[in-house]
This record gives sequence, C-alpha cells and structure tokens, in this order.
Amino acid sequence: MIRDQARLDALLAEVRAWVREVAIPAEERVEAEDAIPPEIVADMAARGFFGWSIPEAYGGAGLTMEELARGAMELSQAATAFRARVGTNTGIGSEALVADGTEEQKSRFLPRLASGAATGCLALSEEAAGSEATALQTTARREGDVYVLDGEKRFITNAPIADLFTVLARTDPETPGARGISAFIVERETPGLSVGPAYKKMGQAGSPVSEITFENCPVPAANLIGNTEGVGFRTTMKVLNKQRIHLAALCVGPAIRMLDEAVAHARRRKQFAKPIAEFQLVQALIADCQAEIHAARALVLETARKRDAGEDVALEASICKYFCSEMCGRVADRAVQVFGGAGYVADYAPIERLYRDARLFRLYEGTSQIHQLNIARLTLKT
Ligand SMILES: Cc1cc2nc3c(=O)[nH]c(=O)nc-3n(C[C@H](O)[C@H](O)[C@H](O)COP(=O)(O)OP(=O)(O)OC[C@H]3O[C@@H](n4cnc5c(N)ncnc54)[C@H](O)[C@@H]3O)c2cc1C
Repeated sequence: MIRDQARLDALLAEVRAWVREVAIPAEERVEAEDAIPPEIVADMAARGFFGWSIPEAYGGAGLTMEELARGAMELSQAATAFRARVGTNTGIGSEALVADGTEEQKSRFLPRLASGAATGCLALSEEAAGSEATALQTTARREGDVYVLDGEKRFITNAPIADLFTVLARTDPETPGARGISAFIVERETPGLSVGPAYKKMGQAGSPVSEITFENCPVPAANLIGNTEGVGFRTTMKVLNKQRIHLAALCVGPAIRMLDEAVAHARRRKQFAKPIAEFQLVQALIADCQAEIHAARALVLETARKRDAGEDVALEASICKYFCSEMCGRVADRAVQVFGGAGYVADYAPIERLYRDARLFRLYEGTSQIHQLNIARLTLKT
C-alpha cells in the first residue's frame, strides 16, 4: 500500500541520488576501513533512514510494507554495508518492540532507534541454536526486580556497535522449545554484557558482526518486552513475514546494481573488434539476470501489498526470501562471468566485492533449505 505517491516518489528519488552520489563513491573506503565513515552515518540519520519502519508516533516514517520494500530496493543498490548499518533499526532490532512492546517501552526506546541516536540489534542465534532457533540456551532468571542473563550469542549483526540489544533468552528452563523463551531489551552499558571483536567475514566489509556474552547480567524487569514471559519467540515470529519480505527486497537492489555494472562493462569491453554486448551468449547472461530481477521485484511488491491488506502471507513471504536470495546469487555469478577475469580481480571492478557480499543472503534469516522446507510444508498443508 502506498499512502501518498508523491511523498514516496520524493523519498525514492532522494535515496536513488544518495546511493549514486554518496554511497557508491565511498564503497572502496568502506571496504578498506571496514566501517561506514561517521559523517555518512550522520547523514543517513539526518535523512531519516534509521526510522523507515518505526511508527510516526515514535519519530519514524511509519512506512507500509510496500513502501519499505521499494525503499529497500533503492538503498541496497549500494554495497550491503550501508543498508546493514541502518537495517537493524529499520528491521530486526526494533520490530519486536514495535510489535509487542508496552507503551512505556516504545516511548523509551523507539525514538532513539528512529533517529539513529542508538543502534539496535537482534540477538537470537547461538552455537547450538542456528536453524533450530528454539534450541537456544541463554537463560534469564528472575531475581527481585531484575532478570539475570547468562549465555552466549553468535553471529549478531551490528553487535560491536549496538546500544540496544533485543535478546531472546529462556525464562523457563523446564519448558523446552519456543514456549519458555522471552524477549528483553538490554542496554550496552549493562554489567556482565560483553561483545566480542568483529569477525573476519567473506564479504560485507563495514557491517560488523560478532559474539555477545552475558555473564550474570542484570536486566531490569521493566525491559521484558510486553512485560510478559514466554512469548518472546512468538513476538519474533509475528514480525517474521515482514522481515522476510524486507530481506527479499534487499536482495533485489544488489541484483539490479550487479546487472547495471555488467551491462556497462559489456558495452565498454571489446573483443573480436566489437563490444562483448554484441555477442549473443553474453546477451543471454544479461537477459537471464533481467528476467529474474523483474520476477523477484514483482513477487516482493505483490506480497508486500497483500501483507499491507492484512492477508496471511506466510507462504509468499518464505517464497520471497528463498527466491530473491537465490536469484541474487545467480545474478552475482552471471555478472562475474560477463566481466571475465576482471570479475575475479578486486583491482579491476567492484563486481568481485559485490559477489562476496551477496553470498550471505542465502544463509541468514532462514537458510534456503529451511525456506524450502517451510514452503513445502505450507504447500502440502493446503
Ligand atoms: C554475517 C551473519 C550475520 C548474522 N546476523 C544475525 C543477527 O543479527 N541475529 C541473529 O540472531 N542471527 C544472525 N545470524 C545467524 C544466522 O541467522 C544463522 O547463521 C542461520 O540461521 C543459520 O544457522 P547456522 O549458521 O547455525 O547454520 P546451521 O543451522 O548449522 O545449518 C547448516 C546447514 O544445514 C542445513 N540445515 C539445518 N537444518 C536443516 C534441516 N532441518 N533440513 C535441511 N537442512 C538443514 C542449513 O540449511 C545449512 O545448509 C547471522 C549470520 C551471519 C553469518
């Protein structure tokens, strides 16, 4: 659903220009320094990028699913690190609060996330709880007016720079699976919370990811999201479809970018006395990218509109995440092919970096295999 076409067009035009004038020219620096320069973070904050999905009442833009997807497809045409910098605030690091936080919790935390004054993150995954997220072992035991957290999280995006952590922990050790799990907002300064150094990753330089350790970490009981124990996992599931559509949109942008790069190269590069764009086998690579990008874009927007209309999109959202992340991988691979050797050598072209960045999409927020299982389960049920 688009609430105000003119306002959305203005936002998309602003993002499009920002990506080309600010973000793309800074990509090499981000790669070299493994960080987004502070002035660019401040610029993104001033432009309201951190608050896209947070309701207007708390200082955000309150974008609908369709508006958010369209914005994501623009922003993600720059290297993934840029959208990952704001992405936890406009996604996994705020959604639990938006969905199930009490009024007091929302007014305390959401304005800081919307303005970019604070960076959020979602701490769900653990060593023993990856695809099987409900196997998490971090505990939260009530002691007076605090919950004491103990455990270790791994692979947490933005943990090294986060101020507010949405943490899933087991409040009822007797109840295995989802029902014993609660969600908390934990502030960085809380004693007993420590964050590991950022990992060395295959790609997405500038997007820090690390482990978090909780050791006798006292979290005020007032920070239990929704003031209710045992519903933390249900809270994250509630916003899962939105996340999946959002991530799918974030796979479309990089694919558009890589095709743009491949097309420009195919026009420039001459072999056998003509631009390689004139060879039909190169054209086939380009056509396959373009066809899949169009299919992915249409799928995401259609699913977003359905969700905005209040329809159940559990099946479609999983299809979006599965198809778009796999599509982006195929586009990345073909784009490298169009570049030839220059696609493999970082000194020549950004495509080597964009290819590495894209590999993660098929792994997080549900691996492709987990989505295949989910799609099959929902299909066989009907
Ligand atoms: C860079 C990065 C950032 C991340 N950011 C976050 C974050 O911000 N917050 C957070 O909580 N988590 C985050 N994650 C964690 C991510 O969501 C998990 O890595 C993902 O869910 C997969 O879990 P796993 O790595 O333990 O793999 P595993 O679950 O061990 O899977 C390994 C392989 O087995 C397959 N497999 C597993 N179970 C089945 C099954 N039942 N049937 C068929 N195949 C199966 C998988 O598909 C995969 O191919 C991040 C991960 C990375 C790498």
